[in-house]
Amino acid sequence: MQKYTYHCHTNTLGIYDGCNSADEMISQAESLGFTEIGISNHLICHPKIGYINKIQSMYFRDYKEAEDVYKRTVEEIRTASLKYKIKVLVGFEVDYFHDAEWCRFFEHLKNTLGADYYIGSSHFIYNRDYTNILKIAYLKHHPEFIDEEMRRDGLIMHWSNIKNCVASGYFDFIAHMDQIKSKGFCGDSEWEDKKYEVIEALSKGKTGVELSTKGLRKGDEMYPAEWIVKELNKHNVPIVISDDAHQIEQLGYKFDIAESLLEKLDYKNRFKF
Ligand SMILES: [Zn+2]
Ligand SMILES: [Zn+2]
Repeated sequence: MQKYTYHCHTNTLGIYDGCNSADEMISQAESLGFTEIGISNHLICHPKIGYINKIQSMYFRDYKEAEDVYKRTVEEIRTASLKYKIKVLVGFEVDYFHDAEWCRFFEHLKNTLGADYYIGSSHFIYNRDYTNILKIAYLKHHPEFIDEEMRRDGLIMHWSNIKNCVASGYFDFIAHMDQIKSKGFCGDSEWEDKKYEVIEALSKGKTGVELSTKGLRKGDEMYPAEWIVKELNKHNVPIVISDDAHQIEQLGYKFDIAESLLEKLDYKNRFKF
């Protein structure tokens, strides 16, 4: 059984969407007998991020302001880790944006923050030129933010963005590849061509992928779907089980089910730092 997680969230600096402090998460990981824990709060910064109605504090439109917060985040978690024996890594779950200015910003962060790792992710839909960036949830619950162009291009760009996120080579692994299905979009038999493009990008590079049990908290299927995990195994893509825990009770959540699937598929290449 995998006894570590690299994808979980805290309430560090009072700005992120985790329910517990880094101290509490680390302590819980020790109690579970984990050998290590990686804490990966959200790194979400882009000048064109549109209306956000939840946890506004962790979305940034100003690169300088964001950089300062991320530096303090790393420091605070490193300080908390000193009290514990367990190995603690500090990472970020990063929303990737495929434009030159954002890439310059992120490369600068990678050179200066001193974090241990980065997870690539995509929680948004986009128009073609990235001048409008909206949370996926708006497609369903806030149609007033979505014009015709956005409705047409948003999902296509969402998948292109994940593919480009992989191809960038910036990330150690990518998060919850088909999480969008939990919002009612791009379910299992749909968008296969776009999903194959992501699988192909993963097969060509060194970026790993997570098998997230968060899907079992939101529905009855992990992220990604079993057929995708099979394809990833064929291409020898490194895989890591994640809980995407936002509170201590979610650490290691249903890892036994994820392990059983990987065992059933005889999945060979397991990701570990
Ligand atoms: Zn996420
Ligand atoms: Zn997450």
